[in-house]
Amino acid sequence: MKRILVTGGAGFIGSHLCDVLIEQRNKVICVDNLATGHMYHIHHLLKKKNFKFIKHDVIKSFNIRGRIDQIYHLASRASPIDYQKFPTATALTNSVGTYNMAKLALKKKATILFSSTSEAYGEPKEHPQKETYWGNVNPVGVRSCYDESKRFGEALLMAYHREMNADIKIVRIFNTYGPRLRPGDGRVISNFIRQALMDEPLTIYGDGKQTRSFCFVDDLVRGLMLMMDSNYVGPKNLGNPKEFTILQLASMIRKLTGSKSKLVFKELPVDDPTKRRPDISKARELLGWKPGIELEEGLKRTIEWFKILPMVKNHDSNSDY
Ligand code: NAD
Ligand code: UDP
Repeated sequence: MKRILVTGGAGFIGSHLCDVLIEQRNKVICVDNLATGHMYHIHHLLKKKNFKFIKHDVIKSFNIRGRIDQIYHLASRASPIDYQKFPTATALTNSVGTYNMAKLALKKKATILFSSTSEAYGEPKEHPQKETYWGNVNPVGVRSCYDESKRFGEALLMAYHREMNADIKIVRIFNTYGPRLRPGDGRVISNFIRQALMDEPLTIYGDGKQTRSFCFVDDLVRGLMLMMDSNYVGPKNLGNPKEFTILQLASMIRKLTGSKSKLVFKELPVDDPTKRRPDISKARELLGWKPGIELEEGLKRTIEWFKILPMVKNHDSNSDY
């Protein structure tokens, strides 16, 4: 039985990871400041004796008694709307927060896995994106609090690895979706499903021809765990290489929900990447990982989850849970 720390464990991806780690009979300590996470995601775990929740902001130093074998460092706002509202906290979470977790990992001789992002590639000039691509990021743009701090987090962990032989893993996660996406978090799949279920217009930013590649959360969690248990440092891309335009996504969600929602075109956010698709040959060859859940199937499961949410049932667009 391993003793595993999950920062950001009350969030969307983190709570699914906690579920699997608990199912596999590990001891899990979930550290989260509930900035964008929610107790609703983990309330079913609170009664398990091998699960512990600690409300804490990783920007502040953190210590814990006893052994820690692994740290999944997932804490960070991830939705552009969320992180642009709190740019300083976001920049510090991925820099100072990562420093705090790296120090803890070294002290406990634990392996630390850092959830970096496809945003590290910025507006990519290489397509699809391989791990060897250095990216094209606006260092002072509105997204820089997120993408530059993730890049710094990667650099800091590489420094810890080179200088102090810290056992580190870096993954670059591409757009991931599934149940427990917060309905009000502003990301495209949450927005479209919520809007479609309420027969409100689907908000297409720009002309909708920009692309993303969407990975179902169960596939992603499997990839995180394979990477953690591997001998590789990374970075490794984890994402679904099937690429869709935002217009294609909107039409799929309209079909699957049977919605009569119209499309409404809104201004494209500043520095919104025009395309994004992972090259996952490294994860395939070295980890034996590839996503197994097609977008249509994953969307059906996500829609089912949104349907049970009180704010969707009550047609209350202004509330989150
Ligand atoms: P999320 O917002 O649902 O979860 C993030 C969690 O981190 C939340 O529970 C939040 O409360 C917590 N958190 C934020 N700042 C914190 C702090 N300072 N201290 C403690 N806890 C803090 O987002 P998610 O989609 O689950 O993302 C999880 C991780 O994966 C993030 O690091 C994100 O950057 C990365 N990622 C996600 C995606 C995606 O498409 N979902 C893509 C690329 C990278
Ligand atoms: N988007 C959109 N309508 C929305 C929300 C997002 O058209 O209601 C677009 C957004 O401009 C971007 C893509 O969908 O091109 C993915 O946005 P998201 O915020 O989910 O993630 P990103 O990949 O930009 O971090």
